Amino acid sequence: MSVERHVYVGLGSNLDDPQRHVEQALDELDRLPLTRRLVASRLYASRPLGPPDQPDFINAVARLETRLSPLALLDQLQALEQRHRRIRRRRWGPRTLDLDLLLYGAQTLQNPRLQVPHPEMSRRSFVLVPLAELAPQRRLPDGRRIARLAAEVSNAGLRPLLPDD
Ligand code: ATP
Ligand code: MG
Ligand code: MG
Repeated sequence: MSVERHVYVGLGSNLDDPQRHVEQALDELDRLPLTRRLVASRLYASRPLGPPDQPDFINAVARLETRLSPLALLDQLQALEQRHRRIRRRRWGPRTLDLDLLLYGAQTLQNPRLQVPHPEMSRRSFVLVPLAELAPQRRLPDGRRIARLAAEVSNAGLRPLLPDD
């Protein structure tokens, strides 16, 4: 067990009522062991990365405070993905739930199972825009600020989900 850290998790789903998967996963993140005080961004719809012949994604970002170590947290996230019956058919293909660990405190991790900050996050509007709602002043280890990255990334295909969507 380690000290409490602020961590950010990116959620995505594009199969089988994706909004339900994301909302349920937010509740489940709130109940992880040694973890508390969930804050979630709004939900967004985004066009899929990779193969275009798949439904749009629903995305969100959550902030947690946790005493779980990075790999223990990854284990919990992967267990949640499994509970949502995620099946990996092809890379970047459709999935019922993807939970990516974006930031773990100020740490940089280069583990074969876990790279933090998430290596693609600074190029992805569906991560940066919701993350900027929660942590605009945060900086990546290279000094770039989240608000700035979110403002500069191309956000074609990204839109906040409206109540009647
Ligand atoms: P991408 O990582 O580009 O968003 P993906 O989310 O579709 O792709 P997955 O199939 O969910 O990829 O995960 C593949 C592997 O990535 C996992 O088995 C996990 O060990 C590893 N991984 C490395 N860094 C991270 C991270 N920061 N968060 C989640 N998984 C990670
Ligand atoms: Mg992912
Ligand atoms: Mg993933």
